[in-house]
Amino acid sequence: MNVGGIGVSHKRAAMLAAIAAVVLALGLPATASAYTTYNGHVLNGGVGNYGSNPRYYYVTASAGYQETVVNNAVYTWIHTTSRLGITTPIYWARTYTQSQSVMDIYHNIYYDPDTGIIASTEQILNNVVINPLATNWNWAKIKLNTPCFDPLSAYNEEGSCAHEMGHVMGLGHTSVTSRVMCQLESGRTVNACQADDANGINYLY
Ligand SMILES: [Zn+2]
Repeated sequence: MNVGGIGVSHKRAAMLAAIAAVVLALGLPATASAYTTYNGHVLNGGVGNYGSNPRYYYVTASAGYQETVVNNAVYTWIHTTSRLGITTPIYWARTYTQSQSVMDIYHNIYYDPDTGIIASTEQILNNVVINPLATNWNWAKIKLNTPCFDPLSAYNEEGSCAHEMGHVMGLGHTSVTSRVMCQLESGRTVNACQADDANGINYLY
């Protein structure tokens, strides 16, 4: 009796495990939502309002070498309609007047190479660096860390810039490696905004 009972229970467990495996397999297609946000906090003033309110970015002299990489990364966030079939309100334009900018790109030795930190983003409100989990911000500073950023391939430099831009607009990390908001050290395989990243922006703005 007991033995039979255990047998049935094992069979049922195996069946449930098989069902769980199928559900897991179905749960992993590229369309699965993986984006995260900072409790829904955003860049005040939005991300371009479909071009009617362009936001500006500024490449500091320190990041002059990275200008092409930066521009390419911006491009992938703007041209999601043609690239991914998803339209977002994102519209960034380059400015040469830093005071117009709400996304400044810097390049310097910010962290020891041992930290492995490739780049970081500071969200700022009224000239104070804030915790984006707690409040919105009105501009941001992307800091490319020379000792860890410069050895990257052009592909990963572009991906890392695009990743930081996601933080500027309010996206947090995901562990799904096919998203630009996955960290490189967590195995990111892409170098540009993906559909799920764009959906995250549409959720926020
Ligand atoms: Zn990050």
